[in-house]
Amino acid sequence: MSRLTADVVICGAGICGISAAYHLAVRQGIRRVLLIDEREPMSFTSDKSTECYRNWWPGPGDSMLRFMNHSIDLLEELAEESNNYFGLQRRGYVFLTSRPERAREFEQTARQICDLGAGPLRVHAGTAADSVYRLSPPEGYRDQPTGADLVLNPEIIRQTFPFINQNVVAMLHPRRCGWLSAQQLASYLLEQGKRRGVQLLRGRVAGVSVEKNRVRSVQVETAQGNVEVHTGAYVIAAGPFLKQAGRMLDLDLPVYNELHAKLSFSDPLKIIPRHVPLMLWDDPVYLQWTEAERRELAADESTRWLLEPFPAGVHFRPEGREDSPIVLAIWTYDVRTQEPVPNPRFEPEHGEVILRGLANMIPGLSAYFGRLYAPVVDGGYYCKTQENRPLIGPLPVDGAFVFGAVSGFGIMGSMAGGELLAQHVSSDSLPDYAPAFLLSRYEDPVYRSLLADWSAVSGQL
Ligand SMILES: Cc1cc2nc3c(=O)[nH]c(=O)nc-3n(C[C@H](O)[C@H](O)[C@H](O)COP(=O)(O)OP(=O)(O)OC[C@H]3O[C@@H](n4cnc5c(N)ncnc54)[C@H](O)[C@@H]3O)c2cc1C
Repeated sequence: MSRLTADVVICGAGICGISAAYHLAVRQGIRRVLLIDEREPMSFTSDKSTECYRNWWPGPGDSMLRFMNHSIDLLEELAEESNNYFGLQRRGYVFLTSRPERAREFEQTARQICDLGAGPLRVHAGTAADSVYRLSPPEGYRDQPTGADLVLNPEIIRQTFPFINQNVVAMLHPRRCGWLSAQQLASYLLEQGKRRGVQLLRGRVAGVSVEKNRVRSVQVETAQGNVEVHTGAYVIAAGPFLKQAGRMLDLDLPVYNELHAKLSFSDPLKIIPRHVPLMLWDDPVYLQWTEAERRELAADESTRWLLEPFPAGVHFRPEGREDSPIVLAIWTYDVRTQEPVPNPRFEPEHGEVILRGLANMIPGLSAYFGRLYAPVVDGGYYCKTQENRPLIGPLPVDGAFVFGAVSGFGIMGSMAGGELLAQHVSSDSLPDYAPAFLLSRYEDPVYRSLLADWSAVSGQL
């Protein structure tokens, strides 16, 4: 067995581990940071994401919103310093509905989230001719509005997005939202980290030695043999393997994993304009079928579910440059809790279901029914706590820390999360949202009483 020494050892080189390493080395000046992964960096969950971000988070409280606002501040800082190496842009998210009652809920939700700190709410109910509502430019992130625009005149919506279902009645457009390249972001962070001494070790963390309730060393299995790394600080950033990593410290971390799929397909008929924001249809829908198809699906018990109502929330965004035909789409209609496995299997009909769901928002997509171009369904796990908030901070074993349970927001939260983790490790002063993400929050009876009414899909699209 060979021996190494590190100031901080991080288990996991997904976006959380990489951001933690960057913040520890570059911002906190810690010299020997060792990042360990049994796989290529960013190859388990962090490369499966749709790479979107938003400062649009519900309560209770404003911790999550302020955390994300700060994460976006840090992303913007990094974009400035790197000549926008990771393609940050800010088109916003657009939520659409054809239901007047949902339009009223849009207004209520928007007021609440804007009041929590997302920015001002602008309501557009006048005529299209007088409207000052404008889309953001497709590229760049500077000098754009914050808060949200609520458009209650359908004519303005139809003029802005002529390809949308003409029954639309309202649109809510939070503005400090968009997407970026997660791989480019990670490679930038890793490059900067390596310049300040971050080292990568390919291997599996197999155990952690603890003496008198303090981390002493980490055992790693590598292709070249076993390595023992002596360290005083050990960070678990193991993504969907958080629970397994916790067990090495005799801890039962309160997390579980949900499998989420995404569809990528080609739009050669240019039905979806390339400049649009992320767009979400906020109504429950039925999939569209011909009469003959309906009869066939109804006749078979295993396909009858395709005739049932599906939940609201199917959404998409264009991917790639102006000349790219690729669209990414997500719809969490069949979320399953399961143990993580590499290359999880998705149902073969998944792509067609998402397409037919999307056709409720964009009727022109029916041109692709039964003949999707270049469809690829992949995905990964949302590692979650019961209230869909992350775990960032110290663990009950001295010198052990966690950064994970980042569910469907790990890319957008990576910068503020990495910073917060590094502040904990370095005993630096903490932002006032820090307590909201500690493991020890579950010991607080007031917090526990909030959990009774707190949905596991809070803030999840
Ligand atoms: C379909 C989909 C869409 C998404 N869309 C978005 C989005 O639009 N915006 C957003 O912000 N987020 C999104 N997410 C969520 C985001 O991708 C995740 O929150 C984030 O990637 C999790 O990062 P991580 O570092 O915690 O985990 P991972 O990327 O899984 O990294 C964990 C790493 O730990 C390693 N590891 C684990 N155990 C060990 C061990 N014992 N030894 C060595 N290595 C170990 C693994 O090999 C892995 O590489 C999406 C996720 C999915 C699945």
